[in-house]
Amino acid sequence: MFRISQFMQEVAHPTPLGTKRNPPGPVVIWNLIRRCNLTCKHCYSISADKDFPGELSTADVFTVMDDLKRFRVPVLILSGGEPLLRPDIFEIAHRAKKMDFYVGLSSNGTLIDESNIDRIAAVGFDYVGVSLDGIQETHDKFRRMEGAYDASMHGIRLCKSRGIKVGIRFTLTQDNAHDLPGLLQLMEDEELDKFYLSHLNYAGRGNKNRKNDVFHQATRSAMDLLFDTCWRYQQEGKQKEFVTGNNDADGVYLLFWVRQHFPQLEEHVRAKLVQWGGNSSGVNVANIDNLGNVHPDTMWWNYNLGNVLERPFSEIWTDTSDPIMAGLKAHPREVGGRCGQCAHFDICGGNTRVRAWQVSGDPWAEDPACYLEDEEIGIAVEAATES
Ligand code: SF4
Repeated sequence: MFRISQFMQEVAHPTPLGTKRNPPGPVVIWNLIRRCNLTCKHCYSISADKDFPGELSTADVFTVMDDLKRFRVPVLILSGGEPLLRPDIFEIAHRAKKMDFYVGLSSNGTLIDESNIDRIAAVGFDYVGVSLDGIQETHDKFRRMEGAYDASMHGIRLCKSRGIKVGIRFTLTQDNAHDLPGLLQLMEDEELDKFYLSHLNYAGRGNKNRKNDVFHQATRSAMDLLFDTCWRYQQEGKQKEFVTGNNDADGVYLLFWVRQHFPQLEEHVRAKLVQWGGNSSGVNVANIDNLGNVHPDTMWWNYNLGNVLERPFSEIWTDTSDPIMAGLKAHPREVGGRCGQCAHFDICGGNTRVRAWQVSGDPWAEDPACYLEDEEIGIAVEAATES
């Protein structure tokens, strides 16, 4: 997760570097239920509107929460499927708040209505993130449900009316990139608090034709727009959060933005970005799925580290006898290909390992979804110097 607004704040008001403070435990994204009332095109949990067997009981969830608390996990993001379809969601959320977790709810928003908004408000969620894939038609198409956009917007407005911090979660794809300006305008018009752009877990085509890759270009344009929008809010003194996920090259790309607009701050911002350190799957981000399986993050659903019904999360998470876990926890990580040669590896950390694994079979190969050009990461320059 890359917090653009935090770095824009740093550009506006630079602060001393200080020592890096590691979070006490990982942020846990918890897919409590796989059932969902929608069947979205890009859903990583491949949900459906039916009950899935073997999901954790309320008592199981509470036992896991106790362990997470002892392990000093600071944040629980309650997700799904659609978490509001879980009959005990309010029981779980209230208990999590009482235990002093920062509690977020990730919802598709369509089930937030007059019948439950009082109960949602009563929990005191620290944040409600509603996923939108575009404006109206685009969203309904992605969600495969006519009226989904209106229902989600109704949910968002209800949250807003109750003073709940609410924002948009947007997964960028080739088919909805054109709606990004509209969504940012929506954020402005509806006075929403946060915009989260998730890069699709795009496999790409490796290192070939990087410059001509339409999706890489679309990604760069999207990031340019996010940076400029975030900087405008920063200058206007408006508190809005901009965050991205699933592509840690975003940190390097922000450095280029700083180089272009505030060259005098490049060195300072670079040091701050290195302190951030890029990808933290398996370190500061964890995922528990609906069956209790633990994954290094939400994109690793086909790789299990263990199950919380068999072993406490705290044991699973610290067990580096698993080779993936050992590799993810290594610092620096040992990554090959262009990531291994990249001049900005210390910022990005080699990006998303699961993508490398899916494309090449080697989890320590380069990330195929890096949208930066060879010259930008120092590869071509080095080659030219050597010849
Ligand atoms: S080459 Fe690899 S390490 Fe460098 S920015 Fe791209 S993804 Fe990150």
